Amino acid sequence: MYTCYSFGVKKKGKIDKNSLWGIDMGGTKIEGVILKSAKDPEVLFRDRVPTEADQGYEHILKQVKKVVKLMEKEAGFKPACIGFATPGILDPKMGIMKNCNSVAMNGQPMKADLEKKLAVKVELANDADCFALAETRFGVVKQQFPDAKVVFGVILGTGVGGGIVVDGKPIIGLQGIAGEWGHNFLDESGGACYCGKSGCVEKVISGPALENYYWKETGNRKPLKDIVALAESKVDPVAQKTMIRLVDFFGKGLSVVVNILDPDVVVIGGGVGNIDLLYDRGVDSLRKNVFNNRLDTPVVRPLLGDSAGVFGAAFLAS
Ligand SMILES: [Zn+2]
Repeated sequence: MYTCYSFGVKKKGKIDKNSLWGIDMGGTKIEGVILKSAKDPEVLFRDRVPTEADQGYEHILKQVKKVVKLMEKEAGFKPACIGFATPGILDPKMGIMKNCNSVAMNGQPMKADLEKKLAVKVELANDADCFALAETRFGVVKQQFPDAKVVFGVILGTGVGGGIVVDGKPIIGLQGIAGEWGHNFLDESGGACYCGKSGCVEKVISGPALENYYWKETGNRKPLKDIVALAESKVDPVAQKTMIRLVDFFGKGLSVVVNILDPDVVVIGGGVGNIDLLYDRGVDSLRKNVFNNRLDTPVVRPLLGDSAGVFGAAFLAS
C-alpha cells in the first residue's frame, strides 16, 4: 500500500508570491492546492468541488473558476500562473484537448479558454505527467534517488498512463504523446481498445483487463482485489494464472520503455501498482526481457498516493 502523507489538512501559513498553485481536473472532482514554494512544498491550502462532467465543458470551466476563487480568497491575490493536471493531452500543434476520458474536454481549446476565463497564465499537462513530476520533485524519487535525471512514472489502474520527467521537467513531445505507454502494442489477446488499435498495454494489464481475463476463464466476475487475495492464498489456480500473466506482460511491456529510455528509476502508481508481485516477479520478468545482461533499474512504489496529481500540477507552475 501507499505510504500517504497527511497532506489533506489545511494549514495556516503565509501564502506569498513564491507559492505554487495547482489544479487537478479529475473525472469526479476538481481539486486545488497552494504549496508554499518549490523548495518547501508545504500545503497551505487545499479544497475541491465536484467536476459534474456530465453537465458539459462550459460547466467544467465554471467549476474550475469556483476552485480558483476559493484559492484567491484564501491568498488575497491572483498568481502569475496556475498548473493543471488533465485527464488527456493538449495537442501542442492544434491547441485542443485529445484522449480525455472526460470526453466533454476533447476537441476543446482548454488552455486558451482557462487563460481567458481566469486571466492567468496556464500550464497544463497530462495527469500521468503530473504524477511523475510530483514523485520526482517531492515524492519517492526525491527521497530515495535524489540524483535521478530520467524518471518514468506509470499510473497502472483503470487505465494505463505514463509520464517522463527529465531534469525535473516533464517531457511533453512533438504531438503531446511522450510517455503514453498504455497504448503501445503488447499482446493480441488484449483485444480491441477504445483508441482504435488492439492489444494495447492497457488492454492487457490494467485493472479492468485483469478482471476481464479472470471472468473469461471462470465465468465469474470478481473485483481485482479479490482476485489478488485468491492468488495470494493459493486456493484459486485461475487467480494465480491471472497474476502470473500480469507479471509476465508487465515485464515484457516495461522492457520496451527501459530499452528506449533507460530511466534512472521507474515509479508505479495506481491500483494495480499496489500488487506486491510486480516488485519481485514482475521485476524478474523485466530483467529477462531487457536488452542487457542485468537490470539496475529500480522499480518502486510512489509516496504521494492520490496527492501526486495536484502536487504535480502545482510544480508545473514553478
Ligand atoms: Zn489503446
